[in-house]
Amino acid sequence: MTIELPPLPYASNALEPFISEKTMSFHYGKHHATYVKNTNDLVRGTDLENASLETIIFEAASDTVYTALFNNAAQVFNHTFFWNSLTDQPSKKEIPNRLLEMIQADFGSLEQFKAEFQKKAVAQFGSGWAWLVFEEGHLKIITTGNANTPLVHPTQKPLLCVDVWEHAYYLDYQNARLNFVQAILEHLINWDFALKNLEKEEK
Ligand code: MN
Repeated sequence: MTIELPPLPYASNALEPFISEKTMSFHYGKHHATYVKNTNDLVRGTDLENASLETIIFEAASDTVYTALFNNAAQVFNHTFFWNSLTDQPSKKEIPNRLLEMIQADFGSLEQFKAEFQKKAVAQFGSGWAWLVFEEGHLKIITTGNANTPLVHPTQKPLLCVDVWEHAYYLDYQNARLNFVQAILEHLINWDFALKNLEKEEK
């Protein structure tokens, strides 16, 4: 099967001024698209050729023969998850009561959650990702380096993520990763997506 580049869930200028159309054109149109192309090129002729994206990631993670395939396939998943973690729709930005109560229980308050997320996202050395995951009955903030993804950790259910590779923010924020993460947390988070991910894991 061919791995496809999913359409963006909003117009490429919909997240302005926090993420510019120019950043989107490179980040989605070049980086994400290249990970899709590389995944298809690398999987062709292997035992994983007909596997789903999730299966490719899971199987490639445990075999060093597939390191390049893992990196590209995981980046395809991570980027699609990132675009879905953001929204321009006000109704989806409203945090559902259930998630707010869980955040208050596990982090103290929404503000404390944001502060911890920002701190960990900024502390991720080099390239990687910041995630809100559900694990063993609790919400947790984790970071992963490069292409690494909670998808390969069966106990960690990803709810939201933020790309902290420099290519995610350099055109709009230059070196100021903190300002980029703050803008996302204040203005763009799709809490409806986070809730759906939580509920999906409960079925
Ligand atoms: Mn990226």
